[in-house]
Amino acid sequence: MPSTSFAPPLDVAGHRVLVCGGGTAALAPIRVLLAAGAEVTVVGPEISPTVADLAARNRVRVHARSLLPGDLDGVALVVPAAGEAVADEQALQLARARGVLATLPRRAAYPAAGPETRSGTGEVILVGGGPGDLSLLTLGGLDAVRRADVIVTDRLAPLAALEQARPDAVIVDVAKIPRGAYTSQQRINAILVEHAQSGRTVVRLKGGDSFVFGRGGEEWQACAAAGIPVTVLPGVSSATAAPALAGIPLTHRNHTQGFTVVSGHAPPGDAGGTVDWAALARANTTLVILMGVATLPAITAELLRHGMLADTPALTVADAGLPGQFTVRATLADIAVRSHAEGIKPPAVTVIGAVAGFRPG
Ligand code: SAH
Repeated sequence: MPSTSFAPPLDVAGHRVLVCGGGTAALAPIRVLLAAGAEVTVVGPEISPTVADLAARNRVRVHARSLLPGDLDGVALVVPAAGEAVADEQALQLARARGVLATLPRRAAYPAAGPETRSGTGEVILVGGGPGDLSLLTLGGLDAVRRADVIVTDRLAPLAALEQARPDAVIVDVAKIPRGAYTSQQRINAILVEHAQSGRTVVRLKGGDSFVFGRGGEEWQACAAAGIPVTVLPGVSSATAAPALAGIPLTHRNHTQGFTVVSGHAPPGDAGGTVDWAALARANTTLVILMGVATLPAITAELLRHGMLADTPALTVADAGLPGQFTVRATLADIAVRSHAEGIKPPAVTVIGAVAGFRPG
């Protein structure tokens, strides 16, 4: 198996590239093309939740329909990525007829009959994939992706890694998009168990670390209850990686003796919340908030109410490690308003504390 990942055959930065197919076979090519700076359009009769999410976050145009000859107007490169031989061949022929360069992704996979069933119990490998860029997936995680029969992935995972999957591997998109497409955790657990019970090696590929707000614990329990062996491969969590990628040393010794990572999913006052925000306001450690884009106004108001200084430096970084990485620097008093004004969308991490004002020089 070649070890290099899909590289477009020309410099696509600023050029229009047409990806033909909106299913899981298109995930890795879209991610790679975006990283290369291409202007991507996706056309396909079915659009998977993660393709839709990538599109929404990266100004990718999406047409949920079959390919039309006019789709090739002004296009520099066509990437047939339907994951289906007939459709890919049609896209190739159309490109040829129009004199447009076309290239199949490295993993042009056509698993005709679904994944093979083997006797005996398979296994589940919980792979923490890092914050999204392939370079932050561990070597062990990449090795598991390369070996897997089935890869169960979602939108925060390092999607470019999917290109390195075996051509016959089955990729299942179980994206849980805030206020969007939704696969219940129960259903995800069942998918893992069912495939492993058919003797397959199943990789659950996630963003960050599976055990940091990743529901890896629940997945492990579901597998254990079904007698399925589980291996855990830790990942680089966005809790530390996102601040680092934005240039923030979370525990710079001149400023703090530690950091606290909390979920902002249940804001102060929420019946389901268990965080002692008053204690955090006094803790004098760096505060790292995940899943807090929508709740940042309530969280910062509560920290201020409990005496945290209004001019405490604060920073939000969205899409850390991805082509759209974007940082907002502010203070505790205005980070919520500023993040909103700058159009920050999940996934984003907010850091509050003296280190958030760090500049190396
Ligand atoms: N298991 C993951 C976290 C899952 S919860 C981990 O360890 O990183 C989802 C939250 O993670 C998002 O709402 C966001 O706060 C954060 N996140 C994940 N990927 C991110 C990225 N590339 N940039 C910024 N924040 C990210």
